[in-house]
Amino acid sequence: MKHLYVHLPFCRTPCAYCDFASEPFWPHFRAGRVERYLEALQEELIERTGPGSASGGIFRTIYLGGGTPTVIPPDLLVALVRYLAAWLERPSDAPTASGEAEFTAAGVADVPELPEFTIEANPGTIDAHLLERLAEAGISRLSLGVQSFAPALRAALGRRVSQKEIEDALTAVSAVGWREWNLDLVFGIPGQTRVDAFADVDAAVAAGPTHISLYDLTYTQAYRTRVDVTLGVGARSAADAFAEQHYSEVVARLEASGYRRYEVSNFALAGHECRHNLAYWRGEDYLGIGASAVSTIGGERRTNPRSAGEYLARRPAQVELLSPKTKMWEKAMLGLRTSDGVEEAAVLPVVDGVARDRLLAQGCLERRYGKLRLNPGFLDVSNTVIGALLVPPGES
Ligand code: SF4
Repeated sequence: MKHLYVHLPFCRTPCAYCDFASEPFWPHFRAGRVERYLEALQEELIERTGPGSASGGIFRTIYLGGGTPTVIPPDLLVALVRYLAAWLERPSDAPTASGEAEFTAAGVADVPELPEFTIEANPGTIDAHLLERLAEAGISRLSLGVQSFAPALRAALGRRVSQKEIEDALTAVSAVGWREWNLDLVFGIPGQTRVDAFADVDAAVAAGPTHISLYDLTYTQAYRTRVDVTLGVGARSAADAFAEQHYSEVVARLEASGYRRYEVSNFALAGHECRHNLAYWRGEDYLGIGASAVSTIGGERRTNPRSAGEYLARRPAQVELLSPKTKMWEKAMLGLRTSDGVEEAAVLPVVDGVARDRLLAQGCLERRYGKLRLNPGFLDVSNTVIGALLVPPGES
């Protein structure tokens, strides 16, 4: 188990489309629950890693997500980062790129496997001084949630972040000179036009991140419910139709700017892929701590209680046993969403051979270096192709 996810569930204010476990920060802070939560995280980490591991040095990637981790007071956040950074492998222990040849064999980017420590942040909660402190404490990668550069579209998302806060955040990132950073955008916002979508992509590219995530909002359940209730099903259908029609154009624009699509919703300059997320998509084990965090280790999946209150009350995690076939199906499903694809021999029992041969003949699928992958032109309809190719574990 080389990968750790840490969840901080606090945000300034809730966003209308949010599917994540997030709660308003101030009531928790005033009640002293934020400090208790941070202590509980450290206790859980020690409990879950077993005796003898408290000295750390065991994770290759750590992802501190939320919520908005940067909403908590800087001194508390920096102390948490410093504590977690001690659990990262030392760079001298990490294998070199030559030991991880999957990308080079496919003729794609050469990805050095240095320890990676990502923090999620939102405009309005960071400045250059905090970023410098976080970098000094051990953060190597920043993920900034912009979502849209257009005030009206952010308003449609119920996202209370001002234009100045976005500009200040980008100025701070540039002043500190982050080597690895992601900018989040969302697509398919009700009212968004093709021109708006292009303008967001162009503004994101101009900011110079090494990685851009472009999430199709129409897939989030919170969004679907909210739009249906507030604007009517017609508005959602219009946004869905817009997304279907223009997503590929937006993708082409990103790729023309040098951002390679290495997963359905994720784009990176060569060598700047997110190694933590790649571990999920390759079916590797990971430990998740904090409210709502999920862990998948061996044949067991544990999901922590969703709210901070339940987590602090030590409500037990839900435990699901995963059969080898379920794990294989998940590995195939996630791997096929990446440009790298999935090792065919490793997932053969969940592949419908007749469908595979038909999809290969139709050009939807490709076979390269022993891997099956979607033809890049079919990533936009990945759910349909993957649904046709894979046999759900309960049906075989
Ligand atoms: S900032 Fe992010 S995590 Fe927080 S409510 Fe908004 S979308 Fe959800």
